[in-house]
Amino acid sequence: MRFTVAIDGPAAAGKGTISKALAARFGFAHLDTGLLYRATGRKVLETGFSPEAAARAVTPEDLARDGLRTQSVAELASQVATIPEVRSALVAFQREFARRDGGAVLDGRDIGTVICPGAEVKLFVTASAEVRARRRFDELRASGQAAEFDDVLDEVLKRDARDMGRADAPMRAAADAVLIDTSEMDIETALAAAVAVVAAGLEGAGA
Ligand code: C5P
Repeated sequence: MRFTVAIDGPAAAGKGTISKALAARFGFAHLDTGLLYRATGRKVLETGFSPEAAARAVTPEDLARDGLRTQSVAELASQVATIPEVRSALVAFQREFARRDGGAVLDGRDIGTVICPGAEVKLFVTASAEVRARRRFDELRASGQAAEFDDVLDEVLKRDARDMGRADAPMRAAADAVLIDTSEMDIETALAAAVAVVAAGLEGAGA
């Protein structure tokens, strides 16, 4: 069975948690596409490759390495993600993943619009910038990292502006995406909404 769930939205809106939980619940494979851009940014730093060459050289093993989830790697990722040649070098891998047998969940910024416009289910998971910054701040504090709320909020706003403002594949909801705003939802409520959309999609696909 081929069945693609495309999940887009800004950082810290809950899409990573929702994607993982949907994949586990329905037995689908999961690809966090942000890791492709993070691994590309890190490879540029480590090897001195051009961003395009780095994107071409990214392997599945690179996605499993430690240290990709830091703020500094996120910043690098959102810089290389503005380069059209980087984005196109990563398309084939994502499309193949999406059409693998058994179903797939991909989360990112342009999955429903550019990578998988024909996905059987599309979700756009969002939340206000303040709520997302608060979640990020609490996570950082909980993991023992020093952080100021205003700096975290600045970082969130800067990354949103870059992701929404770039010319190539800007972050936006596909016209046919179901919007889930998690600003005032706990994770169980958000997940229940997402599960209901996927279950309806599976039924519609006769799966
Ligand atoms: O989702 P995550 O925070 O890991 O993504 C890091 C950066 O990678 C994003 O800020 C964005 O610039 C870029 N990205 C993208 N397209 C995707 C996934 C991530 O441009 N599909």
